[in-house]
Amino acid sequence: MKLNIKDTFNKELPADKETENSRRQVNNACFSYVTPKSPSNPELVHYASFLANDLGIANDVQTKEFLDVFSGNSVYPETNPFAMCYGGHQFGNWAGQLGDGRAINLFEIEANNKHWALQLKGAGETPYSRTADGLAVLRSSVREHLCSEAMHSLGVPTTRSLALILSGDEVLRDILYNGNPKLEKGAIVTRVAPSFIRFGNFQIFASRRDNKTLKELTDYTIAHYFPNIKSEGKEKYLDFYQEVVNKSLEMVVEWQRVGFVHGVMNTDNMSILGLTIDYGPYGWLENFDPDWTPNTTDRQNKRYRFRNQPDIILWNLVQLGNALYPLIEDIPAMETILTAYNKTYDTKYHKMMAAKLGLSSTYTTENHDELINLLTQSNIDMTIFFRNLSSVTKLDTPKEAFTKIKYAFYNIEELPNEIITKWEVWLKSYLEMINAEEQTDSERKASMNRNNPKYVLRNYMAQLAIESAEKGDYSLINELYLLLQKPYEEQSEHEKWFAKRPDWALEKVGCSMLSCNS
Ligand code: AMP
Ligand code: MG
Repeated sequence: MKLNIKDTFNKELPADKETENSRRQVNNACFSYVTPKSPSNPELVHYASFLANDLGIANDVQTKEFLDVFSGNSVYPETNPFAMCYGGHQFGNWAGQLGDGRAINLFEIEANNKHWALQLKGAGETPYSRTADGLAVLRSSVREHLCSEAMHSLGVPTTRSLALILSGDEVLRDILYNGNPKLEKGAIVTRVAPSFIRFGNFQIFASRRDNKTLKELTDYTIAHYFPNIKSEGKEKYLDFYQEVVNKSLEMVVEWQRVGFVHGVMNTDNMSILGLTIDYGPYGWLENFDPDWTPNTTDRQNKRYRFRNQPDIILWNLVQLGNALYPLIEDIPAMETILTAYNKTYDTKYHKMMAAKLGLSSTYTTENHDELINLLTQSNIDMTIFFRNLSSVTKLDTPKEAFTKIKYAFYNIEELPNEIITKWEVWLKSYLEMINAEEQTDSERKASMNRNNPKYVLRNYMAQLAIESAEKGDYSLINELYLLLQKPYEEQSEHEKWFAKRPDWALEKVGCSMLSCNS
């Protein structure tokens, strides 16, 4: 395997002087050197063939060297793996030092004119492992691997996943934290992104009043990842802040478009590049419930519920602002950026919703609000509703239009007549709108289908793939991987995945109930 190694993070930023792999507070350093744990019997479960191709290693995936390097069995020549130091606000509270407790950065490469960082998740303990083991289980690794690649194909900014490898070791987990620990298969995921720097990387130095390292990290980030910023001095950091605000905002608009709920939007899980990162107890809205969160740990407060996501991004951006303040020292200028967030979000959100509805000039927020009310009251599948709405045609009557979306309801028999009437009223106004638009039915359908995926990684689908993988059958992982490469295409041979959540999945652990214990 010939990699074009281009390390920058561990070459340009200050390293922890201590090299022993012991759990500790690490000061004045951006990372600590660590060596991945050797797995006892690594086995390749799945690799993302399209990503391997982009990375120029498609021909190496079946080699022993690939398995060794991406299971942590051996270190690629002349590279120096490390874990990053970062902090973060967890569920609204400052948690101090967190860091890569179970992620180990291997190296950075250049491939096809792109710069990538590669890291292992679940490859053993680091100085940041705190009280945990540095490992990951197959269950959560399947979820991260499949969802990263699915999100990329949906067009949502995200970190990627190259490979899923079983370590051959067993890992003890108490899935629901209720005193029932079980041994599970350990696994390692190779994550890929231009960079894995998070809001928390900046926060940790600000919290320690270490402005020197804060400045070094910020200068490094701007130089490598925001090369379009040409300003100097305080202006430069302000421009950087604005860019991060823009990128984070764009990411969350995309989440709302596809019905993705991250589940743990702590500031240590916020990428500075606006990428979806750290797939844990995430989920997809099935029945449209804006108050839903898949994360059982957050069931009480539902801080990270679907409809809160845009506000939480803003809250997290305020925390990032606090961290960058020593470099900017201009509260009014920072406030201007933050004040603009809600307005920009509204504009982008409504543009996105108009595209989902296939409308341009006729779209109104009143019609949108009524739709959201109806969706919320109807126990209706978000993905199927929007996808099937594209079959409505200009000459349909409201009743005919209703039959086209009927399949999306979970319990149509139980739907009160007054709600059906409300749907017909909404559809009547929708029909008036599409009739007033210039687009033909087929043009509108095509554009709606580019904005409304047919296939998303519903939790029950991931769960089925996990259950077969736990028995040694990896075929469903590959089937879902391939299906989700083309989420907007009809793929009628895969129609069975264009289905509402089955009843068995409603209360099943891993489907509607997920915890951070992964
Ligand atoms: P998360 O909420 O999963 O993003 O994790 C929060 C913090 O806990 C991060 O610093 C993780 O690296 C760390 N962490 C999570 N799981 C483990 C684990 N099994 N071993 C070590 N550290 C972990
Ligand atoms: Mg995390």
